[in-house]
Amino acid sequence: MTVISSNLGYPRLGEHREWKHLLEHYWRHDLDEDQFHATAKTLRLANLAKQRDLGVDYIPVADNSDYDHVLDTLAAFGATPTRFGHFDHALTLTDYYAIARGTKTATAAEMTKWFNINYHYIVPEFDDVHFQLLDNRWLRYYQEAKTELGIDGKPVILGPISFLKLGKRHGQYLDDAAVAELLPQLLPLYEQVFTELVAAGAQWIQLDEPTLVKTTDSAEILPYQQALTTLHQAVPALKIELQTYFDSLDLYDQVVDLPVQAIGLDLVHDHGENLAHLVDHGFPSDKVLAAGIIDGHNVWASDLTKKFALVQQLTDIVTTDRLWLQPANSLLHVPITTKNETQADPVLLGGLAFADQKLQELATLTTAANQGITSVQARFDDNQAHLQALNTSSHRNNQAVRQAEQHLADQTFERQAPFATRIKLQHDRLNLPLLPTTTIGSFPQSKLVRSKRAAWRHGDLSDTDYQAFLNAETKRWIDIQNDLGLDVLVHGEFERTDMVEYFGQKLTGFYATQNGWVQSYGSRGVRPPVIFGDVAYTEPITVAASKYAQSLTDKPVKGMLTAPLTIINWSFVRDDLPTAQVQNQIALALRQEVQNLEKAGIKVIQVDEPALREGLPLKQRHWQAYLDEAVYSFKITTTGVANDTQIHTHMCYSNFTDIIDTIKALDADVISIETSRSHGEIISAFEQTGYQQEIGLGVYDIHSPRVPTVDEIKANIERALRVIDARQFWINPDCGLKTRQEPETIAALKNMIAARDAVQSRL
Ligand code: GLN
Ligand code: ZN
Repeated sequence: MTVISSNLGYPRLGEHREWKHLLEHYWRHDLDEDQFHATAKTLRLANLAKQRDLGVDYIPVADNSDYDHVLDTLAAFGATPTRFGHFDHALTLTDYYAIARGTKTATAAEMTKWFNINYHYIVPEFDDVHFQLLDNRWLRYYQEAKTELGIDGKPVILGPISFLKLGKRHGQYLDDAAVAELLPQLLPLYEQVFTELVAAGAQWIQLDEPTLVKTTDSAEILPYQQALTTLHQAVPALKIELQTYFDSLDLYDQVVDLPVQAIGLDLVHDHGENLAHLVDHGFPSDKVLAAGIIDGHNVWASDLTKKFALVQQLTDIVTTDRLWLQPANSLLHVPITTKNETQADPVLLGGLAFADQKLQELATLTTAANQGITSVQARFDDNQAHLQALNTSSHRNNQAVRQAEQHLADQTFERQAPFATRIKLQHDRLNLPLLPTTTIGSFPQSKLVRSKRAAWRHGDLSDTDYQAFLNAETKRWIDIQNDLGLDVLVHGEFERTDMVEYFGQKLTGFYATQNGWVQSYGSRGVRPPVIFGDVAYTEPITVAASKYAQSLTDKPVKGMLTAPLTIINWSFVRDDLPTAQVQNQIALALRQEVQNLEKAGIKVIQVDEPALREGLPLKQRHWQAYLDEAVYSFKITTTGVANDTQIHTHMCYSNFTDIIDTIKALDADVISIETSRSHGEIISAFEQTGYQQEIGLGVYDIHSPRVPTVDEIKANIERALRVIDARQFWINPDCGLKTRQEPETIAALKNMIAARDAVQSRL
């Protein structure tokens, strides 16, 4: 009896982002619906054939999507928001994309983060739904794989409880009572899907219930139990793999007892807890353990020897005929293949594994488990050689970085004087009006800015000409800011594409992939940098740009950096060191940058931390360690300056109530936050906790091209002033302006300043 290899889901984008281009061509009407479907099918089948050729035994089907799997689920079950009309047939592509992207008359459905991953799903709206099975897509794709490729696939379906819990009713996520109310209408549709799949010959169905990792209280298991019991009774021939991922199961004993035939556990991002449960509590002898042993959201090659030892440990717990080896979560969240990274240092390349390489690792481990390690000895040897080469390389053994790390423990990272003292010195030095105005950093990345950058990258524009262009753009915007009458100016961030890449290019230890795209939402991909070596500061990063901007004006120019935690959260981070250690390396490097900005005459320095909240661990018991580390690395970065240098930070959201202590502990002099859409709740939170530092009110929403009126902005400012003293506030947009057009940006800022002036004159 043999160990089986199984996959949970495969990336959609395509090796050369064919899927992304397909969607976008269709949206631009370059293709009709039939052409779209034909190409989508080719891509889908190619992905399946590839997994088969890589040696995967149980290949997931129906994990493909035309946008997002939660949207697919709600479309199939007729749970479409009513503003898009009523459907009694499968949605056309037009209807489907209307929900995702909105129409002239109906706003798009909300999108939000998928657990703690940088993937965004469409939030179901269960306000007024009448569930009905409009499309058994799982059956369609199961049959297609079978007929076209002879693959007897494992259909993947989002489970009913996770589906409901990921959605909202009346603007609130569903609680257990709401789930209990809707479940009886939804379950018969799952029964029908499963009955049809079983009739068509499906052996196993992968039922994803990722919300199980968030259950802590025994009562929370009840809806899952009810759903699975009902399904089991209705379709007794059905074999369900109940799949969990992204963390451990607190209710391990209850979950493994549920009436299913296989349990999928994450053994990578579980803080060691799932393995501890397996060892301490054992595993039911009548079930399959689908062991998630390969990291599904990082890009590193596994240490096959260590993984094989884990496999052997698992075979002491379950018999080999009841063991599947899997990635810990869907490979949707990693890039597709390292084979197109033709410019990577071979030492790094040997240590990387994207989706295809991960599947190869699974196949190797499965063969080793079934036929002994000697049958795949060469692969194990290669793997050891690659990892050793990377680990002993100069990239990972920078002595200066090591020494600096060792000294961390003997230092404290605090500003010289407390805030109350600093702020007086800063006020004297900066001499700003009441309610000073500023922006968050970026100005529009126009077509011209992007085309110059592309030309420079392709070698069609010299370094000197590119630099001259960037300076000219900064000068143009310094003039605009002066004309508008802003109080603290910025250089505009024209040299950057995003928050991380530019810093990665200037620090050691970063690799920018050529093709390492992962889906962020819809057709949108991101290409996170890979932090593979020790991070060291070798040259100033932003100093020249800030210094140049400052030379053009008497007003203070604000320096602009991304904080260590945000760099970490938006990168693929090496897994041979604790993440916190890598974060501190970045912090030590940025500390030098902050000090160099100060030396260059920059009096105000903003260190952005927009990813703080989205990176919070799934389980609250892990929050404190994460937040402490965020504060520590922020303070390493920002505390090496004089009292009269003003440190700002920026976060794009406003729900801080539960992390307000962390916000305070950052000890930034000014924090800018979103206030325009949250109706001032945050301000009361600051008030209640006696927050002393200054607050930049994000008084208008930059996510829309709409120009806010003076009155609207005034109302936002006045609301805040009702609670906290005017001396504590700054006025700014709620985030950077890089995605906006120039005319609307100038018009909006003009109104913002007029609103400030109007309020100021009455104080
Ligand atoms: N300084 C950055 C900008 O203005 C901040 C972006 C962000 O918060 N995501 O673009
Ligand atoms: Zn922001």
